[in-house]
Amino acid sequence: MTVPPNVLKAIFFDIDDTLFSTSVFAEAARRNSVAAMIRAGLRMEAKECFQELSEIIEELGTNYEHHYDKLLGRIPKENYAGVNPAVIVAAGVVAYHETKFKDLKPYPDVVTAFNILSHTGITLGIITAGLQIKQAEKLIRLKLLDYLNPMAIFITDQLGIGKQNIKLYQYACKSLNLSPENCMYVGDNPIYDVDVPNRLGMISVLNRRSGKYLDVDGKTQPQYTIHDMWGLLEILRQDYRLEI
Ligand SMILES: [Mg+2]
Repeated sequence: MTVPPNVLKAIFFDIDDTLFSTSVFAEAARRNSVAAMIRAGLRMEAKECFQELSEIIEELGTNYEHHYDKLLGRIPKENYAGVNPAVIVAAGVVAYHETKFKDLKPYPDVVTAFNILSHTGITLGIITAGLQIKQAEKLIRLKLLDYLNPMAIFITDQLGIGKQNIKLYQYACKSLNLSPENCMYVGDNPIYDVDVPNRLGMISVLNRRSGKYLDVDGKTQPQYTIHDMWGLLEILRQDYRLEI
């Protein structure tokens, strides 16, 4: 399918498991936290501790702020007798943040693609689900802000609209004075990132690359499926006649 020139005015990207592997990062951060807590005096097998921590995160959500306190609350007190539990918790928190400073990096092809696309006149933006400062922090750490239109960053927590609501995508397109048919959305969740933009008439691109939705199917088909940003560039060359 080749579409008339200049149809594509904006590409919005999801962040987690689209711009970087959230799952690989989260696992590394948890392993480092567990190792640090054990070094700080927690007497527990790393494997068992990782399992307990993963359960807590699953049960209380990734944005809950006291995972490590809850971990200590769920295990026998003898496992940290003689050590101030605050020190163990702090060791876990510090290791988590240090992993963030060191390992929160975009997929290399994301940087290349953003660099190429930033010279095309197409607006690059973000539509992401999560807490506003946490998602904004990811964009800063990923060092992608220079490529993005600062008025094209939309975060569910900030707007009070979830990704399951068509109004989120509507709001993003409208804010840029664009009609949904001229806007593309690239994300990894077949339901929120494909079905919802499809209902609005956006151009949907499913990024089957990493994360927990790899085996999930939505109710509708994405217009395109990619496995990395090279795939996206190819679509833009072939169907949108972009000379990139
Ligand atoms: Mg995602």
